[in-house]
Amino acid sequence: MATLAAQPDFSEKVRGFLNRETQLLIDGKWVASTGSKTVETHDPSTGKLLANLVDATDEDVNRAVAAARRAFDDGRWTGMPSAQRERIILRLADLIEQHAEELAELEAIDNGKPHFFASHVDIPNAIAQFRYQAGWATKLNGGHSAPSSAPEGAFHAYVRREPLGVAALIVPWNFPLLMAALKLAPALAAGCTMILKPAEQTSLTALRLGDLFQEAGLPDGVVNILTGLGETVGDALVRHPDVDKVAFTGSTNVGKIITRTAADTLKRVTLELGGKSPVIMMPDVDMEQATGGAANAIFFNAGQVCVAGSRLYAHRSIFDKLVEGVASAASKLKLGPSLHSDSQMGPLVSSEQRDRVLSYIESARTQGASILTGGQGHSDHDGYFVQPTVIADVNRDMKVMREEIFGPVVCATRFDDLDEVARHANDSEFGLAASVWTKDVSVMHKLAAKVKAGTIWGNCHSMIDASLPFGGYKQSGTGREQGLEGVMNYTETKTVIIAL
Ligand code: NAD
Repeated sequence: MATLAAQPDFSEKVRGFLNRETQLLIDGKWVASTGSKTVETHDPSTGKLLANLVDATDEDVNRAVAAARRAFDDGRWTGMPSAQRERIILRLADLIEQHAEELAELEAIDNGKPHFFASHVDIPNAIAQFRYQAGWATKLNGGHSAPSSAPEGAFHAYVRREPLGVAALIVPWNFPLLMAALKLAPALAAGCTMILKPAEQTSLTALRLGDLFQEAGLPDGVVNILTGLGETVGDALVRHPDVDKVAFTGSTNVGKIITRTAADTLKRVTLELGGKSPVIMMPDVDMEQATGGAANAIFFNAGQVCVAGSRLYAHRSIFDKLVEGVASAASKLKLGPSLHSDSQMGPLVSSEQRDRVLSYIESARTQGASILTGGQGHSDHDGYFVQPTVIADVNRDMKVMREEIFGPVVCATRFDDLDEVARHANDSEFGLAASVWTKDVSVMHKLAAKVKAGTIWGNCHSMIDASLPFGGYKQSGTGREQGLEGVMNYTETKTVIIAL
């Protein structure tokens, strides 16, 4: 096993940020917690401690929700001219761009992803969410509608589109700033106020973002940030009677817990959950493009992607060549620490995640699957690395085929015809995304219609865009983020009927 490079030194700016005392952002000010508990966050490339984050108390949650409630109810944000709100959101996007280098480095050391991806994928996509959604602030309208059961002129009826209120935004650790932006941007455009709860493993970019709110011109209390554990801080937000909406991205299990808890107060809930996305390779694919595409679909971000192409279905006529190509690409991927310029794949986010992924690989071994490449961690290294792994000889009942692994592990299966592969693709409790690789337009559209998933890609994978709705079928979630649907989820519809 190749020796891994050492993690380079952090920049002066990042060291300065890490030396700061970590606090909570409540009502426009950085404040200390009312408690003394902290949560450690580590650099996954080395296992070294990066910072002790505040583990917010119930009282901190109450303070943050009260600040968001006041900011909503007194209209300091909702009542502002929408063009001014739009300008503030755009200014925030500009500020993120100005600090992109520092944010990318923080993301890389906190999550473990190579710096290149943080600076070329995470940060620009986060900025794009703010720029796209800012425009909706001035364009969200209701409408006028004549009642269908009354004579013309008897009533004046119209529909108002109003901001939903106080939103709790709970995000995961795989694309920390981008996942926060997917929620902050539409919530701000709609006129909501909010509390952001980043994942306990990766809160650094959210905290740095908190410095930029005031500079952008956001009024106090519009965005509050609470760090800490999901089971306590996240749960308290979901229970809180003054929170009107929960927007959650994370695991399907926690999504179910949140749905149950939120039922007590009938909060609006949108969920972006797990996946087990199929990659379908038809017999006519361009082999080089398909091999690279299948490898990227699973190994990007070390497989810690909700839409990761973790089930590879290749037509029998190309299976051997394609899978051999993906295994060869996997074995050549350069694993390394996040800040090293040669690194193509970083470690997993935590030692727990590494152990979880390795236990899935072990279950495949004991259930009789073949590990074609990879299959191991780097036990001699303090970072949380797992080799990119390709598994064959799997069947539909194996754990690795049914559950979300959330690591660099792909399972490959043969198929013979279109209907069979559509059945395979749909043989999952998840339905987040799928990709179809073929030159045949007819096959492409047939599979796009048959596969039950929120996004279908053709000859590409993992492409998301701020203007296009994103979300899951089945147990991959409810509601959509991005696009018009994304911002609508932060609004209520009010019908006004006046007898004339
Ligand atoms: P997770 O569910 O463990 O945690 C996500 C967030 O929820 C964290 O902030 C956590 O602190 C909080 N949380 C945990 N328990 C909670 C509770 N009881 N109440 C309220 N909040 C709670 O998920 P994770 O391990 O951080 O992220 C990985 C998962 O996220 C994967 O399943 C992945 O597929 C999913 N994900 C989905 C999408 C999508 O758009 N569909 C995108 C990225 C990640």
